[in-house]
Amino acid sequence: MPLLTTVVRNAIFQIMKSKAYEKGEPKIVRQMTLSQFDEMFPDEESCRVYLSSHRWPNGVRCPRCQNDHVYLSKARPWHWQCKQCGKNNRAPYRFSLRTGTIFEESKKPLLQWFKVLHLMVVSKKGISALQIHRMLGYGSYRTSWYMCHRLRAAMNDPEFRQLMGIVEIDETYMGGKEKNKHANKRTNQRGTAGKIPVIGAISRKGNVVCKMIENTDTETLTRFVRKTVSDKVDLVATDEHSGYRYLGWVMPHEMISHSTGEYVRGEVHTNNIESFWSLLKRGVIGTYHNVSKKYLPLYLAEFSFRFNNRNEADIFGKAIAGC
Ligand SMILES: [Zn+2]
Repeated sequence: MPLLTTVVRNAIFQIMKSKAYEKGEPKIVRQMTLSQFDEMFPDEESCRVYLSSHRWPNGVRCPRCQNDHVYLSKARPWHWQCKQCGKNNRAPYRFSLRTGTIFEESKKPLLQWFKVLHLMVVSKKGISALQIHRMLGYGSYRTSWYMCHRLRAAMNDPEFRQLMGIVEIDETYMGGKEKNKHANKRTNQRGTAGKIPVIGAISRKGNVVCKMIENTDTETLTRFVRKTVSDKVDLVATDEHSGYRYLGWVMPHEMISHSTGEYVRGEVHTNNIESFWSLLKRGVIGTYHNVSKKYLPLYLAEFSFRFNNRNEADIFGKAIAGC
């Protein structure tokens, strides 16, 4: 394990040594390159070691009962037995490195999964399954498509924490007809027919949370805000959408009036969440050429994950730990 992470450790060390880091300037985090990837994962065994160390940083645990008193199988490598949750001493529960991960049902080598994931996490605007299929050249397009979706699902953040500080909230619409894509969104809401509403919250310099919603009524918007934003928030900034009009009753809330040409009033603006929308839209429309309602949540998970880990030198390892 220590051997494998040397590449990552060196990368982090390089960043910390840099002048920009010392000055506290925004740092450019270099992600693992293709050659570093190949160096780190020369074979299937290196992937197994890596998965094991990220899945069980404190030693192997039974995926069923979380007990760490497990026995390595003598006959099969990367398999263990747990007597705690087996039927009896003679019939222990057996599990492997893949049990309970997204790789469990797959016969594909881990190396193949790792390559797909690496391409996904280092592509700022995402990468299509077709492109992955072309680049990696194995299996069918369908296989790449399936692997990408499983990996997106694994990027859903399990440790959700409510947002604090100054939080921007905004809603947007995804998909819809071709002719509406470049329409000036400033005026009316008529262009939203057939589009899917998405709501998002972003804490300044922090994380983004976004979610597909059925409609943009007051109840739906308020429910999202109450769930996503901490009661101890310093300020919530939104546009003048009427659905936000009661937020001031429960938290410090300021609105910016886009319709009258106001975009920034001191701390009050929604520029960060709008940048995220633009990244998401450029990615979804440019890379995936639109997505359906069924799969939109998976793309939201993917884009949020990359955004929230933008300063993480080992984004790949973080993603593997969630698989
Ligand atoms: Zn067990």
